[in-house]
Amino acid sequence: MTMLAKRLFAYAWAAPWSALGLAFGMVAWLLGARAQIHDGALEFGGGRVGAVLSGLPGGLGFSAITFGHVILGLDHATLAQCRAHEQVHVRQYERWGPFFIPAYLLSSLAQLVRGRRPYRDNFFEREAYECCPAAGGRRIRV
Ligand SMILES: [Zn+2]
Repeated sequence: MTMLAKRLFAYAWAAPWSALGLAFGMVAWLLGARAQIHDGALEFGGGRVGAVLSGLPGGLGFSAITFGHVILGLDHATLAQCRAHEQVHVRQYERWGPFFIPAYLLSSLAQLVRGRRPYRDNFFEREAYECCPAAGGRRIRV
């Protein structure tokens, strides 16, 4: 497979989650977010998105979240700070495609059952934090 064919396949394989991210991105855009493309991913941030994302109850607030090739963040400064970490998740979506979120949730459940932290000990988060420990923090990201 040529390089271009591989890239096209990666986008197609992750497309179901990218479509969901795009739907969230459109809502974010209606709330005043700006969109930009970085490293092959579409990033949405700013507007009233930050207030909505950080105001989620029960510690569910997060600073950035990735769906396929779409990344939503509080604002563009936060997106820049989290970019390397979220790009690891983009690569994970490219590997796992439609199975990524079920696998992610199963990994969290497995950690919970073993008495570990469902977010920080999640297989996919460990991989992302190994690459980019600077993006670490308590806030939940997918
Ligand atoms: Zn993460």
